[in-house]
Amino acid sequence: MASQAYAGAGRYCGPASRVRASGRLAGKLRASAQATTLIGLLVAGTASAEEAHWSYSGETGPEHWGELTEAFERCGDGRNQSPINLADRVEAELGSVRFDYGTGIQSVVNNGHTVKARVGSGAEMTVNGHRFALEQFHFHAPSEHQVQGEYFDMEGHFVHADADGNLAVVTVMFEEGDASPAVGQLWQAMPMEAGAERTLEDARGFRPGDLLPEDKAYYRYNGSLTTPPCSEGVLWLVLKEPVTVSGSQVGLFREAMDNNDNNRPVQPRNARAVME
Ligand SMILES: [Zn+2]
Repeated sequence: MASQAYAGAGRYCGPASRVRASGRLAGKLRASAQATTLIGLLVAGTASAEEAHWSYSGETGPEHWGELTEAFERCGDGRNQSPINLADRVEAELGSVRFDYGTGIQSVVNNGHTVKARVGSGAEMTVNGHRFALEQFHFHAPSEHQVQGEYFDMEGHFVHADADGNLAVVTVMFEEGDASPAVGQLWQAMPMEAGAERTLEDARGFRPGDLLPEDKAYYRYNGSLTTPPCSEGVLWLVLKEPVTVSGSQVGLFREAMDNNDNNRPVQPRNARAVME
């Protein structure tokens, strides 16, 4: 999912940015025949399941995701969906988690659904001795998960996969307060236009681990991707300690999202336990 390099930018399907993207591509079209092929692929791509248009409101909003295409069915009929309200938790002996995120990100893409940083190889997390490689991280505002029914201003998702392709997402909650130097550095590379991708000159020096809180205590439950295709079997670790960001840092992210919320509503918990 994260390894789809530039596809991340091309995958965006929102109407506003499609206009922008085609405008951007139109310039290239005049210059190069190669661009014709690219436009052809993008148009053809919109018909495929993976490219089905979805959004956070209206007729293609979260309550309709499951009906948009067969590939998104789990969004409608899944029983272990994310996000959820993290309440009524069960105390458990949760193993330790270690983050070895190292230094450097490859690029930052605005795909119209979120702003996502792609991470090179080598960054990983170990939970209970089980290793997961960090593939990408991205943001939602307001938060997707609730804690005791309360939303946070922003939520970061660090998406990992183990050697067998099992997914684990680590969540960081952001609340308004002092500015975050790490967020500030990352936002310098944030493309404000959907469909755009940027590399940061000093991205090699950016440390994704600086976005994490000091205290690594977490809530744990089993859920799904919070965006189509809403695949289940995802291990969620929600870090308890929020990180502060300034109002203008949240504001800049919201601006990159055209001032639209990009959070899926909380889903039924059904029989699942939330451990802490
Ligand atoms: Zn997410």
